[in-house]
Amino acid sequence: MRETQPQVSSFVCQSCSMPMEKPTDFGTEIDGLASKEFCVFCYSNGSFIEPDLILSQMIDKVSRMLAKQMNISEDEASSIARTSVPSLKRWQKKI
Ligand SMILES: [Zn+2]
Repeated sequence: MRETQPQVSSFVCQSCSMPMEKPTDFGTEIDGLASKEFCVFCYSNGSFIEPDLILSQMIDKVSRMLAKQMNISEDEASSIARTSVPSLKRWQKKI
């Protein structure tokens, strides 16, 4: 492995906290370029897929997703979501 690929695995969606690794994980800007901040489930063509979503609804969504992905209880997942989601840019700036 001589060629160093750009390290993209440190990107985390700034709306739902999902890690974005593959090019297809990234949302798209209005010009079709990949968004570095938001994932494909949250952001498409330069805008949020669910612009009216509020923080508590996102925490619910993320909790369910984490519980499945990490195979943990919804209680554990929701305590992770409650600490990680509110610190993301979307919720800090209240876009
Ligand atoms: Zn997202």
